[in-house]
Amino acid sequence: MTPIANYINGQLVAPVSGQYIDIYNPSTGEVYAKLPDSDERDVNRATEAAQKAFAGWSSTPAEKRSKILLKISALIEKNLDKLAMAESVDNGKPLKLAKTVDIPRAASNFYFYATGLMHFASESHYMEEGAINYTLRKPIGVVGCISPWNLPLYLFSWKIAPALAAGNCVVAKPSEITPMTAFLLSEICTEAGLPPGVLNIVHGLGNKVGQAITEHPLITAISFTGGTLTGASIARTAAPLFKKLSLELGGKNPALIFADCNYEKMLKTVMLSSFANQGQICLCGSRIFVERPIYEKFKKDFVEKTKKLKVGDPLEEDTQLGAVVSEQHMNKVLSYVELAKQEGGNVLTGGKRATVSGRCKNGWFIEPTIIEGLSFDCRTNQEEIFGPVVTIMPFDKEEEVLQYANSTPYGLASTVWTENLTRAHRVAGELKTGIVWVNCWLLRDLRTPFGGMKNSGVGREGGWEAMRFFTEAKNVCIKY
Ligand code: NAP
Repeated sequence: MTPIANYINGQLVAPVSGQYIDIYNPSTGEVYAKLPDSDERDVNRATEAAQKAFAGWSSTPAEKRSKILLKISALIEKNLDKLAMAESVDNGKPLKLAKTVDIPRAASNFYFYATGLMHFASESHYMEEGAINYTLRKPIGVVGCISPWNLPLYLFSWKIAPALAAGNCVVAKPSEITPMTAFLLSEICTEAGLPPGVLNIVHGLGNKVGQAITEHPLITAISFTGGTLTGASIARTAAPLFKKLSLELGGKNPALIFADCNYEKMLKTVMLSSFANQGQICLCGSRIFVERPIYEKFKKDFVEKTKKLKVGDPLEEDTQLGAVVSEQHMNKVLSYVELAKQEGGNVLTGGKRATVSGRCKNGWFIEPTIIEGLSFDCRTNQEEIFGPVVTIMPFDKEEEVLQYANSTPYGLASTVWTENLTRAHRVAGELKTGIVWVNCWLLRDLRTPFGGMKNSGVGREGGWEAMRFFTEAKNVCIKY
């Protein structure tokens, strides 16, 4: 059984409580690792170590910080196979996906911010009155980073890399459900020469470790990615303590497909935006609106292609959908299929737990599911399901589909399919989401702002946005 340890002050250590939590392999349903059941005592130790390390790390020359982060990136790349295997076993995702997306993107996150920090500059403002202002952007101190289970190392590194690049020390908590690659990252950080205490990883439950990080008075900024309800709870705790907050929360993303789209390209991409990572990507498009002239054709082709998707052992090369992350999550997703039926939905394909033979016979798999016949404002179309379940619905007019698309409390991402350039710009401008993809999906440029509107979050990650979040701006005004 793989022993996972906390990473505090550069050491791999057991939790103070001495207690451990079972970690499951979702594709077999078996316990395969033990996770420290840490509490506020471990968070206190980690914060103390981070505070001690801060003076040294924040005054380390940019070039030296950059070199260490580049080394971390290179070591992630070097350990691609090991990390991808760990991610697949821990999360249930196809190994191929972990190898081509999760782990390479985690390496890119470190690479991007390692190089970015060398170019992070502050502004100056000249005044005709004979004065000059310049803005100092100094690291905040000790910051907290809390991440979810769907893209474990990818999202963990998306926070940690800019926090460290900006000169902060970090107390981080990965999801208790998928801790393994964060644990392996701690070994990589040691090998890369990251000084002790600069990054501390405390494993355990959200309501213990996450809560303790959020409450700790010396942790003055929290970067969180996860569910909207958890985000609200974190905001309630952190707001009266005047902590800086970045919240990346849930989504219910629409795909708007116009009849003039490039049909083949659209269909191929919509298959991915619906079911990649078993639909467990916050950016997946789960509400698919199709212009009426191509609705029936789309429905037939989409259902046909979906039926052919291989749900199976994540370690097999040709598997397209692996297991969902936990039994509890599987039951939640399936309960939404039942809700959809009660709401008048017609399940066109899927809708059930999938059985996979052999070593995965007890795993938590769901058939990719397409539902039609629902209204845009029913619960199925308003609440986040976060699994391989999508709804399809026809529309006639642009104003109508914009109303449907913008009707949920969420505003993370949307996708628009059209070859009409004017319409693409017009619709992109009207969609109330932080990200709009036109004729593509999940195409990411790390320099661009990333995040959602409405209940999908507060603030933006990515590029300079993250560097600004992880620094405190101070204006200095000099009159001469
Ligand atoms: P979650 O239940 O909100 O958990 C996220 C993280 O918060 C986990 O590490 C969790 O620990 C921790 N946590 C739980 N309760 C806490 C508390 N009271 N205080 C502090 N931390 C706490 O979310 P999830 O189920 O892991 O992830 C799925 C959600 O993330 C979906 O809603 C998805 O849309 C969203 N997401 C958003 C983005 C984005 O960029 N907007 C990206 C990916 C995912 P435990 O694991 O121990 O519960």
